[in-house]
Amino acid sequence: MAEKIARQKKPEQDPQIRRTNFLEVSGNYSPEQARREASRCLQCKNPACVSGCPVGVKIPQFIQRIKDGDFAGACEIIRADNYLPAVCGRVCPQETQCEGCCVLGKKGEPVAIGNLERFAADWAAVNTAAEARKPALPRAERAQSAVKVAVVGSGPSGLTCAAELNAAGFAVTVYEALHELGGVLAYGIPEFRLPKEIVRREIKNLSAAGVRFETNAVIGRLRTVDDLLKSFAAVYIASGAGFPSFMNIAGEDLNGVYSANEYLTRLNLMKAYQPDADTPILKGRRAAVIGGGNVALDAARSVLRLGAERVYLVYRRSRAEMPARREEIQHAEEEGLEFLFLNNPVQYFGDENGFVQKALIQKMTLGEPDASGRRRPAPQAGSEYELAVDTVIVAVGTQANPLLKNTTPDLPTDKRGYIVVDENGRTAKKGVWAGGDIASGAATVILAMGSGKRAAKDIEKYIRSA
Ligand SMILES: Cc1cc2nc3c(=O)[nH]c(=O)nc-3n(C[C@H](O)[C@H](O)[C@H](O)COP(=O)(O)OP(=O)(O)OC[C@H]3O[C@@H](n4cnc5c(N)ncnc54)[C@H](O)[C@@H]3O)c2cc1C
Repeated sequence: MAEKIARQKKPEQDPQIRRTNFLEVSGNYSPEQARREASRCLQCKNPACVSGCPVGVKIPQFIQRIKDGDFAGACEIIRADNYLPAVCGRVCPQETQCEGCCVLGKKGEPVAIGNLERFAADWAAVNTAAEARKPALPRAERAQSAVKVAVVGSGPSGLTCAAELNAAGFAVTVYEALHELGGVLAYGIPEFRLPKEIVRREIKNLSAAGVRFETNAVIGRLRTVDDLLKSFAAVYIASGAGFPSFMNIAGEDLNGVYSANEYLTRLNLMKAYQPDADTPILKGRRAAVIGGGNVALDAARSVLRLGAERVYLVYRRSRAEMPARREEIQHAEEEGLEFLFLNNPVQYFGDENGFVQKALIQKMTLGEPDASGRRRPAPQAGSEYELAVDTVIVAVGTQANPLLKNTTPDLPTDKRGYIVVDENGRTAKKGVWAGGDIASGAATVILAMGSGKRAAKDIEKYIRSA
């Protein structure tokens, strides 16, 4: 009988060391390890993993190429369906998608599809960079003849839509409000999970392929969507859902209380961790991060890396309901994050200078499932206690920024401010599509990419039939 091969582990920095630096937590497979892991794939005739992937990557085929040692070929197969494999290999929730459907997972451990995707993407980036993402048409030819399309927002949804439309021969301009491109991939997810170099590399490839980028370009301020429609045949809105939500409890206006988005943006884009940064950040000793998703964990692990002695993750449900990726929860635990499950803040108190000093926390119990299917937390009367903290980071969700809605009166939005679209991302406003978090509400990188791809196909159809 053939030897049973165990799922291959990626190398990782020691938790005690990595909690003091911002370097990437996990390393990559060696080529031998990748081929070994690839050889675990059963090459199913009806691969369930593919139906678990929101963009339908041909998983068995790329894994077979890795097994055969054709790493560039493997990356090419992935890229046909997924423009950002090095990103997705690192941040996709594989356990609920492709790997969650792998038949090997029924009795043991699924094939490490995410790790293999990352391996192929990183290998190709180093070894085949010049060949990557050739433009469909030479740049000069396109500049004179091509129909123009505008994309608002440079997150994964905008980048994917731009890549697809560019490859189809359109002249694409991406407008980004911030000074750096990449959306959450740049300003949200920290370096230790997704090195910014990877995001820059993908954007450089797109730029070399002919996509134009304009940063510091806030659509709705500099120009409206209607202005864009005067010079572009179509507009794709992918402005994300980066507007922070707060709990609206007393003391949230104290110094030292941040939204996770503000905290992570200061850290990632404005280098706030450097002593001479223009936008310094309070380096707390005792921090409470409120929430249980990827955003909360990213913020909590960042404060830890800035030198906090104790970091509490305060979550009103239990571990089983945490929406964060399983791997990130495990990494956070190893790094010494203290989880306060079934706990919820009800008030913050400050010192005489208005700096947060302590949180009043209430214990919770779980009741019946709510609309999301997760058990609804209910407060336990008389269970309040005080927790000394000098930093609070609120990561309880985000919403749509109302700017585009307010400056585009005939753009249909739902009652929460998200743009209403059909299955192809088309809005009821002529020439305007939308996708990613601004249409779905806060979701995932791969879902945002999938909607960008569908919209690009529909935009192409619309322009060609005009
Ligand atoms: C901290 C954090 C960690 C996360 N971790 C994960 C993870 O591990 N795995 C996962 O799958 N998902 C994760 N997510 C969710 C994922 O990143 C998002 O679902 C995804 O980025 C949405 O993509 P998008 O393109 O729709 O929007 P975004 O990535 O939000 O990009 C939108 C862009 O539009 C720009 N913009 C906004 N308004 C305007 C305007 N008026 N004019 C011009 N530009 C504008 C913004 O500045 C931004 O750059 C995380 C999110 C956060 C915040």
